[in-house]
Amino acid sequence: MKIVKVYIEHPLMQLNTTFDYFYSGEKDINKGIRVTVPFRSQKVIGFVDEVIDNIDVKEYEQKIGYRIKEIIGIIDEYPLINEELSSLAKWLSKMTVTPLISCLNAMLPPSLKPHSNFKKVVSQNWVRIVDEDLKKDFPRDLLLKDFKEKVGQYRYSKYKKDRKIEVYQCEKKATVQEDKIVESPFTLTEQQKKAVNTVLNTNKEVILLHGITGSGKTEVFLQLSKLIGQQDKQVLILVPEISLTPLMVKRFKERFNNIAVYNSALSAQEKYEQYCLVKENKVKIVVGTRSAVFMPFNNLGLIVIDEEHDNSYKQDSMPRYNTRDVAIERAKYHHCKVLLASATPTLESYARAAKNVYELVKLDKRINSSLPISHLIDMQNEIRKGNYIVSAPLKEAIGKRLQLNQQSILLLNRRGYTPIVKCSSCSHVATCPHCELALSYHKDENLLVCHFCGYSCPTDLTCPKCGQKMWQNYGVGTQRLEEEIHNIFPQAKIIRMDADTTRKKDAHSKILQAFENHEYDILIGTQMISKGLDFPNVTLVGIFNADSPLARNDYRSVETTFDLIVQASGRSGRSDQSGEVYVQSYDTIHYGIRLAVKQDYITFFNNEMSYRHALLYPPYAYLIAVYFLGKDDEQCKRAAQSAVDYFQAEKQIKILGPSELGRRKDEYRYRFVMKSKDKLKMIDSLWNWYNTLTINKNKINIQVDVDPYVLD
Ligand code: ADP
Ligand code: ZN
Repeated sequence: MKIVKVYIEHPLMQLNTTFDYFYSGEKDINKGIRVTVPFRSQKVIGFVDEVIDNIDVKEYEQKIGYRIKEIIGIIDEYPLINEELSSLAKWLSKMTVTPLISCLNAMLPPSLKPHSNFKKVVSQNWVRIVDEDLKKDFPRDLLLKDFKEKVGQYRYSKYKKDRKIEVYQCEKKATVQEDKIVESPFTLTEQQKKAVNTVLNTNKEVILLHGITGSGKTEVFLQLSKLIGQQDKQVLILVPEISLTPLMVKRFKERFNNIAVYNSALSAQEKYEQYCLVKENKVKIVVGTRSAVFMPFNNLGLIVIDEEHDNSYKQDSMPRYNTRDVAIERAKYHHCKVLLASATPTLESYARAAKNVYELVKLDKRINSSLPISHLIDMQNEIRKGNYIVSAPLKEAIGKRLQLNQQSILLLNRRGYTPIVKCSSCSHVATCPHCELALSYHKDENLLVCHFCGYSCPTDLTCPKCGQKMWQNYGVGTQRLEEEIHNIFPQAKIIRMDADTTRKKDAHSKILQAFENHEYDILIGTQMISKGLDFPNVTLVGIFNADSPLARNDYRSVETTFDLIVQASGRSGRSDQSGEVYVQSYDTIHYGIRLAVKQDYITFFNNEMSYRHALLYPPYAYLIAVYFLGKDDEQCKRAAQSAVDYFQAEKQIKILGPSELGRRKDEYRYRFVMKSKDKLKMIDSLWNWYNTLTINKNKINIQVDVDPYVLD
């Protein structure tokens, strides 16, 4: 008999402990496969960590002092992950302070997750030719439907009856074309050549490519991919958002045809098929978002992280990993390099490059033109003149573009019609009943919507404070901006891109394609249009409420404000026509805004670093945020407080909080923040604390965020 140690996902068990089961069946059972097991009168999916052979179960039970149950079934024939990914999962679990089983769930595609509602892999019927004569006509196996098409239903039935063919089932798989490389139509500039050579020749593991917008970074990735491919190695290209994958994929498909694409828009089956392409070494290049960093490569030659500063590289649920850290960990195993690229690198990355931990390379010239000319518009002033939404200079600039038949991009990082709806008699703000957040008015659907949980209600609600039904809209969202621009320029063709217009599959690429084809003059959108876009005919970018992200007021809010302005500005004037940018802001004095308008990264870096230094914020210290979420306010508060009491005794760790955060999705939220120069010490003491909790009977959801990107 065998004893099998199994990891189980269970909401009450937060720990990395395995459970013992015995197995008496005939099948092979190995480390790394999924099994179904009984657990507290339920049938759940588990992940095998260890198998001990030739054990007498009775003796074993006597030794441990309790009875163990038998495994119900075996799901996989072969281990789901190899040695590298298995140790990566353990590293990820430790560093993000997350149960191993949650890490495996994050690493594997939906069809392979060790999770109770995993999606089944789709199979197809194939036809195998058995008869030797018939084989001459059909040298290969064929899909059942193709075969039937070729020979017709009657002959098919007859062949089957005569046993000339056999029908069998096989997993549905994606196919790829043969290797083909199209040479670059460009000669690299001297700076680009230097960048390529540095990546290939440096002895550092990580290279930071600091290249201004439009300086030809993507061309550098393409050239490197070609060279690495020639060494028969794999390349991983990571892009921040799904909206950017079509553009990157397009540029890669123009040069290579053996590429896999991996992002959240794919169905479970499509993800599985792409995963297999990589596992079976059928593709050399993978373009994908965050989770593509876990693809089952066996011979990686390079990892590129484009727009490395982007928030979406940080996963926002457990395990809250930073893609950059995972990439660097994998690169160590594969002895390959990691190339981080951005016009606005994170302060951490640039600081490491400045200290010579990373190799720094620069592209400080645009390929086709110079950087656009930027104007900072004081909106306080404009409002006094009656220009509430669009300032006079921006209005004129848009009009000029329409005359010249050039295109404009308008960025407003707020969807909906208005972000705030107030009672006109008592000024009460309409809020979500489940979240302590204001409801936005969406004119398209004529609803009030919570942007956090999706709750919506009709607009004729009664004010809970004074009983009136008169509501007034405040502020501007993308829907209202679209309406305003349409009123000013009725002849202009406008398209809007935000979470509301991109719900359907492929909506991102359809909108961008239509804009690129110049079916529209003006593209209005949220931050999803601020980065990566390379449209030669765009010569004007307008940024609305540029200072609004400053209001978040956490340690990174100035950095994200700076990034957003610089990145969005970079969409203007990318070809030989020169570009302009108008930045509308209520605060025109703040260094973050002023330096962003000047596109002066280095001065911004030095300024911001001195603030971080003074307040001992990253990169001068490490932070870990710990959240306590639950339906019972008192319980959450007490749990947070007792954790804080536990850590108070730790030297070298400073504890901030606990503080109460607003309710979300009917859950109360408390958080404390740990701060120290020693990250591993904080991680170790968090694990020790976890171990004192054992079973979390109060069902409080504890969330740990190591190196948090946002603290709102
Ligand atoms: P980035 O990624 O830095 O924003 P891109 O790689 O998109 O910049 O380059 C900007 C534009 O310049 C693209 O249209 C690209 O095709 C073109 N380009 C890049 N490198 C060269 C080169 N060496 N010669 C001519 N054009 C180039
Ligand atoms: Zn809500």
